[in-house]
Order: sequence, then structure tokens, then C-alpha cells
Amino acid sequence: MFERFTDKARALVTRAQFEARSRNHAHIGTEHLLLAMLNSHDNNMGARVLGALGVQPELVLARVDELVEIGPERTIKRVPFTPRAKKALDLALREAMKLGHNYIGTEHVLLGLLCETEGMAARVLAEASVPYATAHAAVVEMLQLPAAAGAEEFRDRARDAAASRFERVTAADVLPPVCPGCNASLLDAIAYKVLDVPEDGGPGRRRMCFVYCEACGHVLNSRFEPEAE
Ligand SMILES: [Zn+2]
Repeated sequence: MFERFTDKARALVTRAQFEARSRNHAHIGTEHLLLAMLNSHDNNMGARVLGALGVQPELVLARVDELVEIGPERTIKRVPFTPRAKKALDLALREAMKLGHNYIGTEHVLLGLLCETEGMAARVLAEASVPYATAHAAVVEMLQLPAAAGAEEFRDRARDAAASRFERVTAADVLPPVCPGCNASLLDAIAYKVLDVPEDGGPGRRRMCFVYCEACGHVLNSRFEPEAE
């Protein structure tokens, strides 16, 4: 089934092995997949969704290490998946299909982990107030705008696409997006601003990134900035 995994999802599964081995565990459980997601530091979508939902990686990592003990030192040759981890990966495939995707990314793995409610990953995420429905909504929202990776990255990519239109005659497939508010080409008009927003009814403030059209001010997307590492 792994041939449909994206590079980052594949890296995540590989890293889960490492997370298990480094704790002398003879199996890869859902908790190792979650640890791998948070420890990969490759800006994977699963971790980004968790960040957008206010999950603090250090707290999750500490909680998992509180719940699972380091195993006795021994030589472990093969580290198979537990039935629950296997089920979570099967569910990731199902989540991908439900969303109409022909690949499995780390975001689908995250949803799979949340669906496998008996797994330790789902339990720890429940403690961190990440229910499946919320994570699913966040995944859908992030996938709608490539800017989720960072407005700047999107702007660079848009510029590259614009430049390539002049270089290559065959670039008809590169259709620049337009503002739904004023129809301006977002190649020129897209911008972003990070603002401190007050918490509803509370004393807290959080940083939020707004992607908007510079021509008319229409907000295209917004998300909380991940907590600083
Ligand atoms: Zn506009």
C-alpha cells in the first residue's frame, strides 16, 4: 500500500520505526506514527494541521513518553506494525479516498490515527482537544489554498508560474488564480499580513496570518500561526 504514499508520508512511516527502536519497542504503534509526525520537522501537513489547531508538540511528545515505558535494551531486527497502527494506515487510505485524493499524505495519516480511537495516538490527541471532526475540517481548509504552506511560498510559486508562461508556450496548464472579490489576478494582488488577534472573551492574543487580495481587501484565507518552537 505504501506506493501511494507521498514522500513525507513515507518518511513519516520510516521515522516511526526509528521512534520505536530508539525506545527499544518491538512494535510500531499509533503513538510512534504520531511521534514521527511531530518530530520530523519537515513541515509535513499532519504536523501543520496539529499546529493550526493549537497543539503544542512538546506536550504531546512528553505525554506519550509518560504513557509508554522505554523497553529493556535488546537487539530488535524487525519492527512490525501493531494491528492498530495497521488499521490507522488503512483508515488513512480510506480518508484519502473519501477526499477524492489518489495519494496518501501525512494529513490522511493524521485522520487515520484519529479514526483508530482505541490507539494511543487518538487518546493523546483527545487529551490535547483534537477531535476527528475538527482535524478533518482543518485538513479540508488547508487543502483549499496552497498558501497554507506559507503565503510567501505561494507567492513565489505564483511568480515562477507567471515567469514560466513567458518562457514556455506550452504552459497553458498554468492558469493564474483570480480574486473572487474583484477578479484581479492574484499573481499581482495576493498578499498576507500577520496580526495579533484577541481571544474571544479572554485575555489571550494569538498571531493569525491573513492571506488577502491587495486590490480589494478580500480575505482569501486565514489561519493561526503555529506556536513558536
Ligand atoms: Zn480582490
